[in-house]
Amino acid sequence: MIIPTEPIGSIPRPAYLIDALSDRASGRITEEALKELSRRALKETVTALEQTGSPVISDGEQTKPSFATYPIHGAQNLSAGGVVIPFKDGHTRQLPVLASGPFKYQRYADDYLREARLLSSRPVKQAVISASAMSLLYPSDGIPNYSREQFVNDLLSEAEKDIRRCLDSGAYNVQIDFTEARLAIKLDPSKSLLKMFIDLNNQLLGRFTVQERKRIGIHSCPGGDHDSTHSADVDYGDLLPELFQLEAGNFYLTFAGEKDKTSVLKQIKSSLKTGQRVFLGVTDVLNPRIETPEEVSSLLVQAATYIPIDQLGSCDDCGFSPFADDRSTAREIAFSKIKARVLGTQLAASKL
Ligand SMILES: [Zn+2]
Repeated sequence: MIIPTEPIGSIPRPAYLIDALSDRASGRITEEALKELSRRALKETVTALEQTGSPVISDGEQTKPSFATYPIHGAQNLSAGGVVIPFKDGHTRQLPVLASGPFKYQRYADDYLREARLLSSRPVKQAVISASAMSLLYPSDGIPNYSREQFVNDLLSEAEKDIRRCLDSGAYNVQIDFTEARLAIKLDPSKSLLKMFIDLNNQLLGRFTVQERKRIGIHSCPGGDHDSTHSADVDYGDLLPELFQLEAGNFYLTFAGEKDKTSVLKQIKSSLKTGQRVFLGVTDVLNPRIETPEEVSSLLVQAATYIPIDQLGSCDDCGFSPFADDRSTAREIAFSKIKARVLGTQLAASKL
């Protein structure tokens, strides 16, 4: 019996790369100098990920500005002042707002995938941002001569292209980052916003065949920036039945950081459909303490009493640094946690 195990995506960038990003922003170094350091960080990250023994790796998102903004980075038709995401520790992140149409991605995620695949013979997974997160860019008071309907059409085409290019470029699988799912319940307890997000994401998933959707997954978490969350106070039980309505093959869910694990497992058991696989987070990315393989194994053994083993996998609770400038977690801690995940998952498989 093998239990599949996968990363979520991001690994903390090395200090020299974070410094170089701010040096580039203030014009102290050239674009070429930044590229050189980015290439070095990517190579070091892929090598270190391979050394953890992880059967599936990512590019560590070393060259993404953030998990959410990579497709719009550098776009000329954006203004400041979009949706604000407040985190528990008091800090915020703010999205830009679309000032004029048409909406177009500046960059597709297969760029990152192809770079990583050149450096490793391991299967490489690619994370992409959800259509629902990008839908937050359209201003509530509209845009002259560019209706919300036109925007949604453009958005779905671009998000489809983003995923399809990754599938066609040899991604082991593609993960849609849907961190705003739990946040949506906090912003709108009636769940209308969440249902709108799920409907939009299902419109996107409907553009792929059943076979393709087996390689497409959804990541949901309460947020993980500067070791702080945006929606951990929202009851997971309110989200899970809705989440599994998504027509995706794989679900990558925060689990290690959840307090009431038994009730989470019961909810997953009653919501999981045939043909869907749930990858449970077995490492808490917000806590610097490194899990032991035994701890990881016992989480999975417990999970297997609720979830059929052929529908079970493991992952980290979230990316380790979804935003490029996040220095809250040391790289060595991230790699040690991944190693514990890999060993602990093998241990659980040997027991089950
Ligand atoms: Zn996450």
